[in-house]
Amino acid sequence: MERETVDFGELKHLIKGKVEFDHPIAPYTTYHLGGKAAAFVEPQTLQDLAELLRCLTHAGAPYLVLGGGSNVLFADGGFRGVVIRLGRGFQGLRIEGDRVWAKAGTKLVTVLTKAREAGLGGVEFFAGIPGTLGGAVVGNAGAKKAWIGPTVEELTIVTPHGQVKQLKKADYKYGYRNSSLKLSGNVLVEVALKLKKEPKAEIEKKVKEYFKIRRGKQPKTERNAGSVFKNPEGNFAGRLTESVGLKGFKVGGARVSEIHANFIINEGTATAHDVAAVMREIQKRVWAEYQIRLEPEVLPLGDWDWDDIKDVFWNLKGR
Ligand SMILES: Cc1cc2nc3c(=O)[nH]c(=O)nc-3n(C[C@H](O)[C@H](O)[C@H](O)COP(=O)(O)OP(=O)(O)OC[C@H]3O[C@@H](n4cnc5c(N)ncnc54)[C@H](O)[C@@H]3O)c2cc1C
Repeated sequence: MERETVDFGELKHLIKGKVEFDHPIAPYTTYHLGGKAAAFVEPQTLQDLAELLRCLTHAGAPYLVLGGGSNVLFADGGFRGVVIRLGRGFQGLRIEGDRVWAKAGTKLVTVLTKAREAGLGGVEFFAGIPGTLGGAVVGNAGAKKAWIGPTVEELTIVTPHGQVKQLKKADYKYGYRNSSLKLSGNVLVEVALKLKKEPKAEIEKKVKEYFKIRRGKQPKTERNAGSVFKNPEGNFAGRLTESVGLKGFKVGGARVSEIHANFIINEGTATAHDVAAVMREIQKRVWAEYQIRLEPEVLPLGDWDWDDIKDVFWNLKGR
């Protein structure tokens, strides 16, 4: 593909995996909303992915990566670029001693199950978190005081120019629901986690506790993307939202969950704009009452009109 003349039709010849055009992305996200992507591809091998990225970057074509789509708000207007979702070839793991080598497309529940069977502790908080290991490492997923960052030992990424690179622990910087890989253009393909040998009964107990915390406190069947806002220092976004009377607050088909006020539900007809509008109202009221500026955890992907949402996603300014 040549610069300035991006012909997505050529993608079919470029990679072995699935290639679709003008493809709806909503089914690949837990919110089940948003528009279509000009192209949707599922590379199956490292070579496929590397070649794909090299060509897209060379042609100046925009692309984005989707894991399990469980932490994103995909634009109603879709995406005039390529949505890349790692295919089955990017799933699976092996365990050596206390190390788990897992491909980035592996589901968190699989990592948890295999680690548990091997008597390895350290990822019990994965219990109940949907999505892939790639998305979790990129966003430093966690629960309560635990997060994945400290267990990450090594990573394999493919750069926008198609180079396969190994990163060491020190190259991976992480913070609260953030890491140096977020929105970097690199695609994470494999991760080595260093876990801890522990009695299986102990691991089991912790997993059960994590499940118990979620049960009854989070919406179970309704469409959502987990916590919309990060918890501000010493407080909880859900508690603040509830205290300003916004439980059940609705814009269009998007509603603040009655079960947990930091969850926004897509009732089935919500648009991504509805969700952003609910987020804006929460931020406005919490600011007016407490002068606390809530920072979104969920990421807006696709072709948003930035002027429309820059007040809500103020944390992404300049990215
Ligand atoms: C019911 C529910 C409960 C949840 N509970 C929690 C919780 O307790 N703690 C928590 O931290 N999160 C929670 N989440 C949010 C979400 O599940 C996690 O953040 C998860 O780790 C996101 O992974 P994903 O694969 O779905 O990533 P996605 O949502 O697909 O993507 C998130 C970001 O990562 C990028 N990305 C994904 N894969 C790759 C890759 N291979 N290479 C490069 N970039 C990539 C995407 O481009 C995007 O920027 C919850 C969500 C739901 C729906």
